[in-house]
Amino acid sequence: MTTQPADIKQRKPLPAPNVDFYELAETLPADERATLKQVREFMQSKVAPIINKYWAEDAFPFGILPALKELNVMGAGMQGYECRGGSALLFGLIAMELARFDASIATFVGVHSGLAMGSIYLGGSEEQKRQWLPPMARMEKIGCFGLTEPLVGSGASGGLTTTAKRAGDSWILNGQKKWIGNAPWCDVSVIWARDLADNQVKAFIVENKSTPGFSVEKIQNKIALKVVQNGLITLDNCRIPEANRLQQDSSFRDAARVLRMTRFLVAWEATGCQMGAYEHAVKYAQERMQFGRPIASFQLVQDLIARMLANVTSCQCMVGRMAQLQAEGKMTDAHAALSKAFTTARMRETVAWARELCGGNGISLDYDVARFFADSEALYSYEGTYQMQNLIVGKAATGLSAFL
Ligand SMILES: Cc1cc2nc3c(=O)[nH]c(=O)nc-3n(C[C@H](O)[C@H](O)[C@H](O)COP(=O)(O)OP(=O)(O)OC[C@H]3O[C@@H](n4cnc5c(N)ncnc54)[C@H](O)[C@@H]3O)c2cc1C
Repeated sequence: MTTQPADIKQRKPLPAPNVDFYELAETLPADERATLKQVREFMQSKVAPIINKYWAEDAFPFGILPALKELNVMGAGMQGYECRGGSALLFGLIAMELARFDASIATFVGVHSGLAMGSIYLGGSEEQKRQWLPPMARMEKIGCFGLTEPLVGSGASGGLTTTAKRAGDSWILNGQKKWIGNAPWCDVSVIWARDLADNQVKAFIVENKSTPGFSVEKIQNKIALKVVQNGLITLDNCRIPEANRLQQDSSFRDAARVLRMTRFLVAWEATGCQMGAYEHAVKYAQERMQFGRPIASFQLVQDLIARMLANVTSCQCMVGRMAQLQAEGKMTDAHAALSKAFTTARMRETVAWARELCGGNGISLDYDVARFFADSEALYSYEGTYQMQNLIVGKAATGLSAFL
């Protein structure tokens, strides 16, 4: 007969997993903590119960949009123009909280609010910001960001093939953009194209539904972020008014400014994604019985749990400090790149350990961990791969560029 420790025999209630071990959210002011709580409640009540079904069907849950609008968090970290504003820490913690429940919804928000609104916020004229940001902040218009092309990903800085040719008061855009999140159904695209006159990269706001020559094909058969609808955009002699060219952008350096901000965001999402996987795995381990006791009581399982928590907590500390640098205007490309690379690498480890802890059930959507496991692969690669981030860090660390 097996003997059991007293606490297991008595079935003492076990604590809920604590994913904010060093109390990062406690450092927010009270009003921002309240916003974060609303985000959590929204994700818990509206997203968590339905998301696996949409994931399995490769579909976006449009039904959640009215409640998401009410949260009023689009344009977090951006001031004015009806944006949510708030601190850099809130900006990051919202992304983390979204990803803690679902990386696809976090990505949808990251693309619309971070990449698309962020491009206009950083590169638009005053008039353009006043025209585009308020309806986007109210989610009346949803945006996407088109930089990557079918044949050009990591090498976008020097290799974009989509062209822009000035024609009087307009520009003619030609080319293709691949992997563009939200593109199959959204309203506006920020398209990055090379000006044939000076060979520099410029950004254009394209109205998807009313621009002749603009078409989108939904990308099928993904195994990650299946809820996000990604598109292959084709621009066939699209005529875009000069008024829709982002007036403050004149080279790829301006796209890099947007990517710096959104890599900051992805680092927070990668932290949130591993928090979600960790929570599900610890709860599972507390309930799953083997050899007559919960698997969470085994030493080797606790070692894995401690390692996962160390990953989550080290990422939280890193992105928390990065938010301070961002708030002080000191965050560099290398700061954002180091965090994106480190947090996504730790995320990959954490979600794999979480999946391992769930045994066979770890590969079933029904236990949630599998979704975090699969989705993490996209976060690891998008907005610049691990290698690209490390090349940015390597240049800052050594003073020598290893880019070709
Ligand atoms: C789900 C998803 C959503 C996305 N959403 C968007 C979006 O909304 N908008 C958008 O514009 N893009 C988007 N992307 C594109 C994404 O940013 C690119 O996939 C990413 O930048 C990598 O480019 P690539 O896929 O062409 O890979 P490649 O550049 O072909 O790289 C393939 C491999 O080669 C490595 N490699 C390349 N060059 C070097 C080098 N010099 N040294 C060492 N290794 C190297 C890379 O690190 C990688 O491992 C999305 C991608 C995915 C998967």
